[in-house]
Order: sequence, then structure tokens, then C-alpha cells
Amino acid sequence: MTNFSGLDLIEPLQRALSAEGYAAPTPIQAQSIPHLTAGRDLLGVAQTGTGKTAAFVLPMLQSLTETSNGRPQAGRPRALVLAPTRELAIQIGDSVKIYGQFLNIKATTIFGGTSQGQQVAALNQGVDIVVATPGRLLDLMNQGKLRLDQVGIYVLDEADRMLDMGFIHDVRKITDRVSKDRQTLLFSATMPSAVAKLANGLLTDPIRVEIAAQSTTAERIDQRVLFVAKAQKRNLLSTVLEDSDISRALVFTRTKHGANRVAKHLEQKNVRCGVIHGNKSQNARQEALKSFKDGKLRILVATDIAARGIDVEGVTHVINFDLPNDPETYVHRIGRTARAGAAGQAISFCDEEEREYLFDIEKIIRKMIDVEIDHPFHSQEIEDAERSVARPKNERSGGRRNANSNKKRRSKNNGGGNGGHAGNNNDPKNNNVKKFTPRRHKGKRPGHSGNSGGRSRAA
Ligand code: AMP
Repeated sequence: MTNFSGLDLIEPLQRALSAEGYAAPTPIQAQSIPHLTAGRDLLGVAQTGTGKTAAFVLPMLQSLTETSNGRPQAGRPRALVLAPTRELAIQIGDSVKIYGQFLNIKATTIFGGTSQGQQVAALNQGVDIVVATPGRLLDLMNQGKLRLDQVGIYVLDEADRMLDMGFIHDVRKITDRVSKDRQTLLFSATMPSAVAKLANGLLTDPIRVEIAAQSTTAERIDQRVLFVAKAQKRNLLSTVLEDSDISRALVFTRTKHGANRVAKHLEQKNVRCGVIHGNKSQNARQEALKSFKDGKLRILVATDIAARGIDVEGVTHVINFDLPNDPETYVHRIGRTARAGAAGQAISFCDEEEREYLFDIEKIIRKMIDVEIDHPFHSQEIEDAERSVARPKNERSGGRRNANSNKKRRSKNNGGGNGGHAGNNNDPKNNNVKKFTPRRHKGKRPGHSGNSGGRSRAA
């Protein structure tokens, strides 16, 4: 028996959790499940990796089992989960199967980019749960293949990404067709005002469960930045990948073409890799992902959207071939490693055009990222450019290098010996050091009040 027993889950669910080797609920599960089994609406601020899928799937399975009258009706599901990407929808569908393996609940997954025949056939046989991306779902609804008037449990997963991807109108149309008499759950990694507005319109007196601010996740991961000219990035990548400690790496690029170029370069260097992005066929994406999950592929090159929600255990390294312009995306990306307390490393390449992105990222994660300079493509010019635009030389070099933490890193001047606190503005020797103010972020940096003086590295 697990200590899920305190959550009043029915025996077949407890058995599935034991079979999966889950010893205890994660915080989001412990905080959500009792309210969800009691029928409350929920606003969950949590990202992938927190166990949020089980947090909504377990009570959903329980409720559907308790209210089941035998075989589900054709084309009229009783629960609907909306997800922004095919990959996430498939992953949720897999979780439903795993958690529901000892129950008689039917589920199917609906997404675009593949023929609709099998999906329609599954709907016609009758399903309790539909997990879907918005576009294909609407399409099938418009064809009269399914109706949502029986949906008593409605979940929107990754709502922020759903809006980022332009699904708001589809979500509204779908919501209008869902039974009004329902329980609604909305999960989002971030809570920008558009998501808060959507949540307000959808949820009735919700429980709000917020799991570890994203920066907390980032703090657990060993993060480094490598300054490199844009033209040298691919060579740097193949050099970095020579490190045999990198046993499972996700490489992120900003664009689909960038992903293709990186993959081509790696192939030329005889480094096998998979690629997933929006222009790849659904089959190709699934195949690459499966090989990566099974450990047959050591490297998977991905764009953010394709990789959204993907959960792969044992990712040792996340490599940001391009830095994202949205710092939240950086946090999402690096959260793919160091899952469940495992060690993980995030390696980011920063070229001449990405300096601003780095500032934004450091602001949100509330610490400076150590610089790795012992590689053949280190660009001093790019490193120095930062000083001229943003911070004084003596503050920067001490703050960025941490000689204690890794032998590969070298400390150029007085900064390394004490763990890199030479940038401490409270240090009388540093009187001439101006307080660091990133160009686009005037004023006090979050988490930098008090004694660390603006550039301390989090412990
Ligand atoms: P999620 O945030 O839903 O994507 O889940 C992240 C990962 O955590 C998945 O691989 C789950 O299988 C795993 N997981 C979820 N709940 C638990 C738990 N209580 N104990 C151990 N692993 C879990």
C-alpha cells in the first residue's frame, strides 16, 4: 500500500499507483485530489514534471467509475481534456491508460496531422474520456462525430501555451458546447492576464493550487552559459556532445529550420539524433520521441512547441542551442532535466544577438548563470559586450565564475575563491561597482534585495 491511501482513492487506482511504483503523492496531487473528488473546480498553477496529470486524471477516473451506467454512449464522452499539442495529448492519453488499467473506463485521444478514421471509430464505439487538441476536436464536432453535452468534467491543460498558440477562439467555441453542469479544471504553468481572464470565465469558486514558482525548479539545475559566435554554434554543439557524461540530451532550437540544420550538422559529424518540430509528420515525431524515451537515441533536437509537455525520464542535459526570447520558455526547457531530484545540467549557447535574452532569463531565475569558457569557441568579444552594455567588469567576472563548482571553469581574477561573491555591492572594496541594472529591467531585481547586492548566485 502507498501513502496515497489518505486520499480516499478507490482500490483499482491505488493498485495502479502501486504498480507504477509511486510511493507518495506529489504536492499538487496531495493538494488537489481531495478537492477534486469532492467535485470542486480547480485552478492549478504548475508545470509539467510536478505530477499534475495524475492530479486530474485520478479523480476523473474515480468520478467516472462511480457515475458509470455501463457502456459509454457513442460520440458522447463524459470527460474532456484539452491539450495544446499532439504530444501532450498523447502523453495524457497514456497516463489515463496507466492509471485506469484496472478500471473499465474507455478513453481516446484526438489530434490533427493524422487521418481521422481511427479516432472516429473509437468515438463510435463509445468513450468516457476524450483527450484532444482543439483544432481536430472542433473539426469532428462540426462534422457531427461527437457532442459535448454529456461532459461533466472539463480540463484545460497548459492553458498558457494554448493561448500562445492561438487556440483561444477554438477553446471558447468548444467551451460553449460543453455541458454547463460540469466540473472545470484549468492548469497553466504561468498566469498571464489572458489566462487569468479565461480562468475567471470558466471556473466557479475554484480551489487554487500553486506549485513551486518556476524559479525554484531552475535553482536545482546546474546551469551554464557558453558565449559563442552564431556561426560557430554548430561546431560548438558537436564538441560539447563529445562529453560522454551527456547520456540523454534534449537540444532546443528556436525555429524548425534551425532544428533541421542542427540535425544535419550532427549527422555529418556522425552523431545520431532525432528531430521533432511542427513540419515533421506525426509518425516521424512519435518515432523519434519513442527512440529517445527508449534510450535508442541519445540526442533529440526539438523546437519548443513540439517539445511542449513532453516528459522523458533521465534527461541528463538540456542544451539551448538558441536562447529563447521568452525567459519562461527557458525555465520550461531546463525543467526537462533534473526531474524528481535527479542530477541535471542545462547548457546554453549565447551568441551576439542573445545577450538581452540572457539578462531576462537571469532576472526570472534570480541568479547568474555560470560561464563556461574552456571550450574552443569561447567568444571574449561577446562576453565583453555585456560589460559595456550592462555591468562593470569587476562585478561581472567575479560573479560569473565559480571556481569551486567545476574544474572546467576558470576564474580569471579575484572572483573564484569565495564561491564567486566578488560582485557583492556591500563589500567596501567594491565601492566603485555600480549596481547591476539590465537594460530592459530597471529597478530592483527580484530576490536581490538585502545583502547580496544585486549579483549573488543562489545557493
Ligand atoms: P506530469 O507533471 O504529470 O507530466 O508528471 C511528471 C512525471 O512524474 C511523470 O513521469 C509521472 O509518471 C511521474 N509521477 C507523477 N506522479 C508521481 C508520483 N506520485 N510519484 C512518482 N512519480 C510520479
